[in-house]
Amino acid sequence: MPLMTREEYIDSLRNLKQKVYLFGELIENPVDHPMIRPSLNSVAMTYELAQKNEYEGLMTTTSSLTGKVVNRFCHIHKSNDDLINKVKMQRLCGQNTGACFQRCVGMDAFNAVYSTTFEIDEAHGTDYHKKFKKYMEYVQEKDLVVDGAMTDPKGDRSLAPSKQKDLDLFLRVVERREDGIVVRGAKAHQTGMVNSHEILVMPTIAMGPDDKDFAIAFAVPVDAEGIFSIYGRQSCDTRKLEEGAEIDLGNSTFGGHETLTIFEDVFVPNERIFLNGEVEFSGMLVERFAGYHRQSYGGCKVGVGDVLIGASAVAADYNGANKASHIKDKLIEMIHLNETLYSCGIACSCEGSATKSGNYQIDLLLANVCKQNITRFPYEIARLAEDIAGGLMVTMPSEKDLKDPKIGPYIEKYLKGVASVPTENRLRILRLIENLTLGSAAVGYRTESMHGAGSPQAQRIMIWRQGNLDKKKKLAKAIAKIKE
Ligand code: SF4
Ligand code: FE
Repeated sequence: MPLMTREEYIDSLRNLKQKVYLFGELIENPVDHPMIRPSLNSVAMTYELAQKNEYEGLMTTTSSLTGKVVNRFCHIHKSNDDLINKVKMQRLCGQNTGACFQRCVGMDAFNAVYSTTFEIDEAHGTDYHKKFKKYMEYVQEKDLVVDGAMTDPKGDRSLAPSKQKDLDLFLRVVERREDGIVVRGAKAHQTGMVNSHEILVMPTIAMGPDDKDFAIAFAVPVDAEGIFSIYGRQSCDTRKLEEGAEIDLGNSTFGGHETLTIFEDVFVPNERIFLNGEVEFSGMLVERFAGYHRQSYGGCKVGVGDVLIGASAVAADYNGANKASHIKDKLIEMIHLNETLYSCGIACSCEGSATKSGNYQIDLLLANVCKQNITRFPYEIARLAEDIAGGLMVTMPSEKDLKDPKIGPYIEKYLKGVASVPTENRLRILRLIENLTLGSAAVGYRTESMHGAGSPQAQRIMIWRQGNLDKKKKLAKAIAKIKE
């Protein structure tokens, strides 16, 4: 059965020779680096949960390509149930990590590339779909993590790729060879790159006839010659480096990460190229990937939201404020907002339909509505969490002070809430809320909710396009008895 255990996954990363820079230095061993490890633990959870009998059918499913049991993160969706289970799986992973578990970008890229390559072949007589299916069999068999890489740096936003002063600002073909292509450029905001085995590159925007060299999709191993990543900074990310910051971290086990990944003249063999100059399909691929990833947030952010709501309720218990009616009302509001997000994720899945290739795609309008809500509700949920937590969340002393034999007892005494709860527990839950609202997990829960899978305006454009205003006007005119 092609399912790796948590340990096998971690070992498989050790075998890679991925180049990662952090604080100006090449990291010798990213797997055990204290700043990187929490993000690895989050991805490892997608393997760990898949080993549990109780999640059989949710974390795992049967591949339509090989007939074998695979991790759902490597699956090509074959029904509405698959789309629904995807969202449920993401909520589960968010609940178990309280962080971004990174593996969804690959899953969303697989499904977008799968259906788009089918339609390119139909139009151009190419064989991308066959090649991609073969690639997917490899991914499923090895149970790999694949970084779905879409976002180019984009340079001057008013100019097309081929009109940029520096052409490398959109990843492009710099050489065409008999056996493949050589590419150069970069991908920004790459979620989970360091914890991935492979990269599946896609174009970042719809393109015109002059942009042929930029309309490319392909897969390469993360340690292919010419690829290196620069690790992104996160709020509070060096706390791990200080001694005794386990409490201060808020979530010392799990996290997420992003990178800026450079492709310095990287060779891609023909069998791993899935789009090569068919510019009119670039927009379709972007739209489909974005649609899937906008659905994804209706699962993962909801799972993390569950953790934040729980933490807020625990903070209220520890403060002795849990009976106050306004606290209860705030918790109700948080649950209401969180479940509204989940409803959107489920709804766009239920309303999904088969593409020409046979895999299932979400309803694009509802997926965009889902993501538009994601750009707002986590902020409100975080605001309410901060309200319930109280100011101590941002003024309390460090773990070192708490553990100090001389001043620790004062913290123990004066920062106590209800008498039965150790002060340390109170500080722990407040640090978790800090982690999610202001610390390293806020990268995923707040700002990534705003910009991930496209910034809010991108969804509004799609909502305008998909909203079928003409039909709505007709409905109104019919009822108002307006004849034209
Ligand atoms: Fe998955 Fe959510 Fe992280 Fe995106 S933000 S990779 S959907 S967990
Ligand atoms: Fe994302």
